[in-house]
Amino acid sequence: MGVGDAPGGESLSEALSERLGSAGWLTEDTDAYGRDWLGRVAHRPLGVARPADTDEVSAVLDLAGRHGAAVTPQGGNTSLCAGAVPGAPGEIVLSLERMNRIEHIDGDGPSATVQAGVVLADLHTQLSDQALAFPLHLGAEGSARIGGLIATNAGGSHAARHGMMADRVLGLEVVLPDGRVWDGLRAVQKDNAGYALKRLFCGAEGTLGVITRAVLSLAPMPRQRATALLACPDLAAAARTGRALSRRLGELVDALEFFTDIGLGWALAHVDGLVWPLDERSAAYVLVELAATAEALPLDELLEQGLAQAMEAGDVLDGAIATSEAQRAMFWRLREEMPEGQRLEGVQLKHDVSVPIAALAEFVERTSAALRQCLPGVRINPFGHLADGNVHFNLSPPDDQASFGDAAPALSDLLYRAAVASGGSFAAEHGLGRSKVGMADTLRDPVERELMRSLKRTLDPNGVLNPGVIVDR
Ligand code: FAD
Repeated sequence: MGVGDAPGGESLSEALSERLGSAGWLTEDTDAYGRDWLGRVAHRPLGVARPADTDEVSAVLDLAGRHGAAVTPQGGNTSLCAGAVPGAPGEIVLSLERMNRIEHIDGDGPSATVQAGVVLADLHTQLSDQALAFPLHLGAEGSARIGGLIATNAGGSHAARHGMMADRVLGLEVVLPDGRVWDGLRAVQKDNAGYALKRLFCGAEGTLGVITRAVLSLAPMPRQRATALLACPDLAAAARTGRALSRRLGELVDALEFFTDIGLGWALAHVDGLVWPLDERSAAYVLVELAATAEALPLDELLEQGLAQAMEAGDVLDGAIATSEAQRAMFWRLREEMPEGQRLEGVQLKHDVSVPIAALAEFVERTSAALRQCLPGVRINPFGHLADGNVHFNLSPPDDQASFGDAAPALSDLLYRAAVASGGSFAAEHGLGRSKVGMADTLRDPVERELMRSLKRTLDPNGVLNPGVIVDR
C-alpha cells in the first residue's frame, strides 16, 4: 500500500500544499510524472512536489520522512531504466523543473554554477554566446536536466575525450534524505579532504540525496570542427577505422560513433526530415568528428589524410566530410535518431552494455549469432560509441512477430552475460534504475552489492529516497 492509500496520505498532502503553495504541490494532472519515458512503468503519485529552492527540497524530504512516504527525485524523466518514476502508487515525485536557473558563469575558470533543474540544451545555448562549452552531448539533451545527468553519471557521445558527467562536476549541493543540506559547492578540481563525497552522489540515481545545485567544469568552445560520415563493409572494419583514427589524430577526436544499416533503414523510414548523403548504403557506418580551439590546425586536411589511409586499407568504402553546419547537423541527426527510428518500428528490447574497445566488433558479431539461435529472425540494431566501447544493443522481434513472446528474458540474460564475459559491463551509461536491480544482484560480486546496501542503509535508514532503485527496497 502506498502512502496515498494510507490514513497519513491526506495529512501529508495538506502539509506539502501549505509549505509549497499551489505552484509547488500538484495533485491533479500528474500522470505524466508517474509514467516513465519508455511507457513501461506507470503509477499515479500522491502528488508532485515542485520546490522553488533548496529550502523547499529540504522541507519535502523532512515532511515525507516524518510521514513514512517515499520520494522519487525527477529531472527530465528521460531515464531508460525506470529510475525517475515511483515504484508504487501513492509515492511522491519531487520534480526539480522549477529550479532551472543558471546562476553564474565564470569565463575564467571556466565553470558554471547551476540549479539542478537546468535543461542541458539550455546550458549549451547560454554558453555558446560566451564562446564556452559544456562538452556532454546525448540524444535526450533537450529534456534531460543537470541533476538527472549527474545522478545517472550520464555519458553520451563525447565521453571518451571529455569524460562522463561525474568527471565534469567540481562541486555539489545535496539535500540528504533526512532534510539536512550538504554544501559542497566548491569550484576547484583538486580537493582531497577525505572521502570523495561528491563522487558518491554522481551515479547514485537519487537514492542517497537530492542534488539541488552544481558547479560544472566548462571547456572553451572549439573554433573549428571537421565531421565525416563513413560507410564501412562491416562492423569490424568500422572498429578498425575508429582505432586507426584515434591513434593518428589522438586528442583531436571529439566523437567517434557507429551505427548499422538496419537502424539507418528504420530511421530513414520513420523519422521525418532525414537525408542520406552517400551514394551507397553498406553494413556499418562511422561518424567521426574532430574539434580544436586552435585555429591554425588544418583539421579538414588531417581528417582527409586519415580517411585516405582507411580507404586504402579497404575499411572505408565511401565517405563525406560535412561542408556546412547544416550538413554536420544532418550527419549527427542520422546517428541520434537511431533510438527513435527503432521505437517507431515497434516493440523493442533495449540494452546498454560496454566492452573493452578492442573487443567491440567481435563481441557484437558473436553475441548476435547467439541471439539469433535463441530467437531465429530477431532483428538486431547495435549502435553507439566506438571510442569507449559502449554499445546500445537493441533488439526488435522477427519481422513476422509483433512481440518477443516469452523469449525476452532469455535474450536479455544472454546479452548481459556476454558483455560481462567479454570483460565489460551490463550497465554502461544509463544506470540500474528499477529495471536492472535483479541483474546486478546476479552478475555482480556479492561484496560489491552488500557495500551498496550498507551505504544506502547508512545515508537513508528509513528508505525515503527512491526505494527499489539500485538496491532492493
Ligand atoms: P531523470 O530521468 O529524471 O532521472 C534519472 C535518475 O536520476 C532517476 O533515478 C532520478 O530519481 C534521479 N534524479 C533526477 N534528478 C535528480 C536530482 N536532482 N537529484 C538526485 N537524483 C535525481 N544517457 C546517457 O548516459 N547517454 C546517452 O547517450 C543517452 N541518450 C539518451 C537518448 C534518449 C533519446 C533518451 C530518452 C535517454 C538517453 N539517455 C542517455 C538516458 C537519460 O537521458 C540519462 O540517464 C539522463 O542523464 C537522465 O536525465 P534526466 O534529467 O531526464 O533524469
